[in-house]
Amino acid sequence: MSGNRPSVTAAAVVLAAATLTLQAQQGRSAGSAQSSGADLRIIPIRGNVYVISGAGGNITASIGKDGVMLVDSGAPSMTDAVLSAVRALDRQVTASGMPQRSCVGIVQGCTWWNSSNLLPTTVGPPAPRPIAGIINTSVDADHIGGNEKIAAAGRTFGVRNLANAPLGAWIVAHENVTARLSPAGEPKVPAGALPDETYFGDEKKLNFFNGEGIVITHVEAAHTDGDSMVYFRGSDVIAAGDVFNLADYPVIDTKNGGSINGIIAAANKLLDMIVWEHMMEGGTMVVPGHGRLGDVADVAYYRDMVTILRDRVLAMKKKGMTLVQIKGAHPSKDYDPRFGRNPQWTPEMFVEAIYNTLGAAGR
Ligand SMILES: [Zn+2]
Repeated sequence: MSGNRPSVTAAAVVLAAATLTLQAQQGRSAGSAQSSGADLRIIPIRGNVYVISGAGGNITASIGKDGVMLVDSGAPSMTDAVLSAVRALDRQVTASGMPQRSCVGIVQGCTWWNSSNLLPTTVGPPAPRPIAGIINTSVDADHIGGNEKIAAAGRTFGVRNLANAPLGAWIVAHENVTARLSPAGEPKVPAGALPDETYFGDEKKLNFFNGEGIVITHVEAAHTDGDSMVYFRGSDVIAAGDVFNLADYPVIDTKNGGSINGIIAAANKLLDMIVWEHMMEGGTMVVPGHGRLGDVADVAYYRDMVTILRDRVLAMKKKGMTLVQIKGAHPSKDYDPRFGRNPQWTPEMFVEAIYNTLGAAGR
């Protein structure tokens, strides 16, 4: 199913007023035909956190005094464009004298941080901070495609290897991502694209980064078996990866261990993590793997949609209908205008994946 992954060309992100379109100059001048015409959209979400869309899967970026950390690295063909966009945004954010997230709760701003993150203006703006790390939400090519090049362009602070040379940016993913990329120790991608740190179990807490805690949550067998959601606790933003999709039906990648019940469980987990803002479009903001930025209402609608479609297919299956009959009954018809327009991930493919991943126990 990995070959059927939707490639969303234009993630329709709202908040147009805040949109900053960067013509990816560097990607173009590099003469890469694949990168030409790349218009990446960058939207500040809250605090240190930005979303970059148009490079395959959405990329979430934290930019501040500790450097740049990316959640996902886009499609391989977009890497030059992503790098130049990240560098331009990094320069812009670092040069601005705005208080950063570390200053939360201190009315005057926290001067003891300022000395380390903003040099006195008399000596000009501080240098942009390096790309320090990448977190991958899944094994998908349009989420890990920039790993090798972007990590090589970055730098891990304070760590030197035996050759006493600075290391590139680190890459973190769930252990199943690493296992899929390097089955039986035989890497299917260049060594530099592999995660150099994998985590096990349900959760990993990263060190404080750019003044906030970052928690990675693993959800079981959803889009794949190696999905991660990344929660920026200070900025209150969750980068959900492909378990949450506002552009298409969620891809249930059965070859890589995905399942419909895992997708539903992931949506419910997201709802547990979100704190909403009463009667407002606000509260915790959620970056989907594809599509526009979402809030609690979007996640609730999505959770209801995947649950309703699972229940319809399940009811038909229990009646003894075959897959062909169920597809013929179009159980997703009413949702298709909203989610079913991707020719690479059609309603029929989604229904088939639901059918095939419903457990024998009837759930
Ligand atoms: Zn994706």
